[in-house]
Amino acid sequence: MTKINLSELDVLGAKELLQKGEVSARDLVAIYQGEIKSKNRNLNAYLETFDDAFREAEKVDKHLLHGEKPRALEGVPFAIKDNILIEGKICSAGSKMLENYRASYDAFVVKKLRDAGAILLGRTNMDEFAMGSSTENSAYGATKNPYDETRVPGGSSGGSATAVSANLALAGLGSDTGGSIRQPAGFCGVVGLKPTYGAVSRSGLIAMASSLDQIGPITKSVDDAELIFDVIRGKDLKDSTSVEVESVQAKSEKLKVGVPKEFFSGGLDKDVLEVVNRAVETLKGLGHEVKEVSLPCAPYALAVYYIIVPAEVSANLARFDGIRYGLRKHAKNLLEEYLETRAAGLGKEVRRRIILGTYVLSAGYHDAYYGRASKVRALIKKDFENVFKEVDVLLGSTSPGPAFKIGEKVNDPLSMYLEDIFLVPVNLAGVPALSLPFGSVMRDGVKLPVGVQLIAPWFGENRLFEVGRILEDRG
Ligand code: GLN
Repeated sequence: MTKINLSELDVLGAKELLQKGEVSARDLVAIYQGEIKSKNRNLNAYLETFDDAFREAEKVDKHLLHGEKPRALEGVPFAIKDNILIEGKICSAGSKMLENYRASYDAFVVKKLRDAGAILLGRTNMDEFAMGSSTENSAYGATKNPYDETRVPGGSSGGSATAVSANLALAGLGSDTGGSIRQPAGFCGVVGLKPTYGAVSRSGLIAMASSLDQIGPITKSVDDAELIFDVIRGKDLKDSTSVEVESVQAKSEKLKVGVPKEFFSGGLDKDVLEVVNRAVETLKGLGHEVKEVSLPCAPYALAVYYIIVPAEVSANLARFDGIRYGLRKHAKNLLEEYLETRAAGLGKEVRRRIILGTYVLSAGYHDAYYGRASKVRALIKKDFENVFKEVDVLLGSTSPGPAFKIGEKVNDPLSMYLEDIFLVPVNLAGVPALSLPFGSVMRDGVKLPVGVQLIAPWFGENRLFEVGRILEDRG
């Protein structure tokens, strides 16, 4: 067997090794399982690894041995966020509520991955029900950042981002409602794609806020993200918001890159700003046009998001009542049973959002909060429509700073929410965005990665890949 340098390996590279017979899928799974055994105790990226990965690998090896045409993700070992259903496996969404809940079917994306020959290594840690920006809200302990274990990996898909970054998987899936793919990708030095709303089916994703949730890849390269996106996208009859749309064509000639001034003010660390400016200069240097633009309603996005999300959360999580799903605490009457089950099964942040969401939807307040937020949401969307008449793609920072310390923000919800400032306008508008590692900054003597965010018009993922490939490895 060829000696494999996992840090250098990406999906395309692994596919080549497998096809040439230089490594078997079984060996590849064994290598990753070995890495997980030695590192996961510390990092807590996986909540569970699957023994049947070996059986899956043997099927792939047979497929390859018979000389059949390799499928798109033949033999690629994957990490799956714990809110995406895998038939027969526990899917806990990082919550005590679903500690013993087993999925009865595969999510659409999981089926797509399997059909493409991917191998599922295990399920990864996350903030409970995807609410959070640090993975500290998991009921199963925080995940650590592989660059500095005293720091968070970001969230809520921190487990998948850590797994890919620390070579505990070749690629991963996350979900992004308000940045949960892009922010952890940025903190962990990997690539994360939030697809256009509707490009990927949500069937089999445990719902957080249904009008914003999207599943997407977390990978080591832009090419890998594109490859996986092409596998998982498409219309699914089980998700009426999913669509089959041809991507907006990438442009090979000069690009017009917009730099939204709202993304360059307030709260952005000085050295992170310098890194992002370097990305801008890199594009200029290659002859692309860079232009300052404005998204005038973006400063309201965080306020709008933290009304709309709790509202949808309170409705989506009503099903966890101790009777239909998951944990059940027996009590003397039905009301007590609801109260005790939800108190025992749900963590602080989740309860905070259910209470807030119930309040903003309550009679007499609906128009003042949810109604108004929906109107401002429409204006935010309009901002993007206008700006994309002028430019092909937007560029900014994924987060205001690099990975922060474990414990630094977890008891201060507002400072945690501020982490999402550049991320949530994208979800509210439904446009696609990509975070890719570009440069680094020093904190306490440790070099930490910085994520640069690219945003494209609806179904313009191709443009993200195109610009991503230009910037990749130039940081
Ligand atoms: N940090 C955001 C929140 O807590 C992002 C969540 C997400 O994208 N799942 O709502």
